[in-house]
This record gives sequence, structure tokens and C-alpha cells, in this order.
Amino acid sequence: MQENGVHKESGAGWDIKSMTMDELTALMKENGFPAFRAKQLYRWIHVSLVREYSEMRNIPKAMAEKLSSEYPLTTVRMIDRQVSKLDGTQKYLFAMADNSLVESVFMRYKFGNSVCISSQVGCRMGCRFCASTLDGLIRSLTPSEMLDQIYEIQRVTGERVSHIVVMGTGEPLDNYDNLVRFLRLLTDENGLNISQRNVTVSTCGIVPRIYDLADEKFSITLALSLHAVTDEKRKEIMPIANHYTIAELMEAGRYYFDQTGRQVTFEYSLIRDVNDSAQDAQMLAELARPLKAHINLIPVNPVKERGYRQTKDAGVRAFQKKLEKSGINVSIRRVLGRDIDGACGQLRHRHISGCNEQNASSRTEE
Ligand code: SAH
Repeated sequence: MQENGVHKESGAGWDIKSMTMDELTALMKENGFPAFRAKQLYRWIHVSLVREYSEMRNIPKAMAEKLSSEYPLTTVRMIDRQVSKLDGTQKYLFAMADNSLVESVFMRYKFGNSVCISSQVGCRMGCRFCASTLDGLIRSLTPSEMLDQIYEIQRVTGERVSHIVVMGTGEPLDNYDNLVRFLRLLTDENGLNISQRNVTVSTCGIVPRIYDLADEKFSITLALSLHAVTDEKRKEIMPIANHYTIAELMEAGRYYFDQTGRQVTFEYSLIRDVNDSAQDAQMLAELARPLKAHINLIPVNPVKERGYRQTKDAGVRAFQKKLEKSGINVSIRRVLGRDIDGACGQLRHRHISGCNEQNASSRTEE
């Protein structure tokens, strides 16, 4: 249930962790508590990352008990964690209050620690090469459930997280209101205070929501999952292409750039003999140039249920070279966590389908 934009589980009380400072202040007033309590609560929840009201040392016991019964503090529960012996990448499986499962990934880079979060339980976008969509969409995540993936990882690792990518399971722009609220809370200077410049949201291309996001004027990076350079080819691998053309997507990317001053990224998963020809590279360069877009090449992660194959290494390098020769800024996603459960959604998929076979395929990350 949505009321004033704050998620409310039926009968479970307000989701206090999804509230802004102003909303929390209003809530204190409504409940007869002084306004300064809002600041204290917000700090405990979003900076100290406590799991229970009872841990909030400067909150009177009676107040903690009242809040606890009327506004329960929800947290995600860690169900599984895989740590790569090769590079320390950690893959987490979290359960929500209703036992829905989502995946998140923790990665260490020279520039800091990055967490990749899920925005939905499952996904309904149906991209043919993606494991996250195999079981369909169960539901969208609340702002607090998105935050909690980061909070829990920071608690477990004891390490500060500085970069966030919304690139896990789900289509963030199919959960727009909760995403925007999450972004505000995440980058709030009174909370975890993640720099907006260190946040990336990846979308398969829900064009009207790209315009909406541009109008929010965040300084976050928008990554467009392109994966094909003609509408015909894109329709074959991404059902969303039946709704919006590449031209419309490019126009929305341009608007995003003009409104925010942030260069967009194109994600392009290389699938052998599907989208990796020299002509594809040429056309991709032509799409990227007017937008000054950065291109992130991802050798496709083979998903057992799908049957697409990765472009060979030499083919990936040739594709990259061709783009670079056209003056395009390109990176190839670094392969991290090669030894742990592979592509997006595979850890969850394995848990819900009860299949325990270890999957050796690789997860690639920027
Ligand atoms: N729904 C969003 C974000 C989730 S996926 C989106 O579509 O952008 C993050 C990125 O990984 C997207 O570019 C997606 O197309 C890509 N991806 C998904 N499955 C993949 C796979 N098996 N191999 C390579 N890239 C994949």
C-alpha cells in the first residue's frame, strides 16, 4: 500500500526506514515526541545502521517500545554468501520480511568498494539472455529494502561502501517511485551520504521514465542496456524494444545528458554471432558519438536455460578496437567472482528452483 509515497505493509505499520527526515519529523509530532528525536532516529537507522530500536541508546525505552510495535524496523536477512577466492568479490542472497529472495554483490576496486543491488524480486522485462527474468516478477522492492542490501553488506564486511550500481535483478525504472525515494535517502547528507556521482542506475530503456529521471536532476550515471543496434535485432533479444525504438531511446539519453550534464553509458553484452559483427561495432559507434556515450562491453554470461554464447576474447578485443578507432570511449567489464555463482539472478534462481549444482560460469562486473 502506498500512502504519501511511503510504503505501508497492510497491518504492519509504517516503513520508517523509507521515510525522509521531514516525514520522520512529522511522525514524531503526530506521536507526541519532540522533533529532535527524528534526527536521532534517522542517524541510528541510516548512519549507525542498527537493526533494532533497542540498540538506539539515547532513545527512551517507552518510546522505543511504542515505535517497535507501531513502526517495526524491518531488515533483510542474509541467507547465503559466496566469497570469491580469486578477487574477494562477495555475492549475497537476502530474504525480505515476506521471505522473497534477492541478490546483491560486493566488489572491491582501487577507487573504493562497490555494491550492486537488486531493485525488484524477479523481473518482467524478459530479456532473452538474462537469468533474472526466468521466474518472472514477484514484486518491486521498497526503498528500505534497497537500502538494506547496502546496509547489511556494510555491517557484515565492516567496510565503507562508496559506490552503488542498481544493476542487480529487476528493472529499476519499473519501480520508479521507490527508486527515486531510495536515491534521495542513499545520497542524503544526513544518512549514508553516498555521492550521487558514485551511483549508477541501469535500465533496459523505459523511455518515459528516463525523461522523469532526468527531470529529477540527480547527478547519477544512467546506463542504457542497448545490446543491439537495429530495432529488428533488439526486438529479438529484448521485448522492451517492441515498445520503444532505438531512436526514441537515444533521444531520451540526449535529454538525460542535457538535463543532468552526466554522460550516459551504453551497456552492450556481446553475444557470439548475434550482435558482435564489425558492422554492429560501426553502427554502435554512430549511436554513441552524438551522445558522447561511454560504452561498456560485457561478454555475455551464458545462462544454462538460454543458450547464447560469449563472443571469443579476440572478437571482443576486435570489437573494442573498432569502437576506439571511431573515437569512442570503451571499457570491457572486468571479470570478477569467476568462481562464484555466475550471472545476475543465478544464485536466487538456484535457491528457488532447489537446484544445488554449482554453476561455474562467470559474473562480469565493470
Ligand atoms: N534491468 C536493468 C538492470 C539489470 S541488468 C537493465 O536492463 O539494465 C544489468 C545489466 O546486465 C544489463 O545491461 C543487462 O542487460 C545485463 N545482463 C543481464 N544478463 C546478462 C548476461 N547473462 N550476460 C551479460 N549481461 C547481462
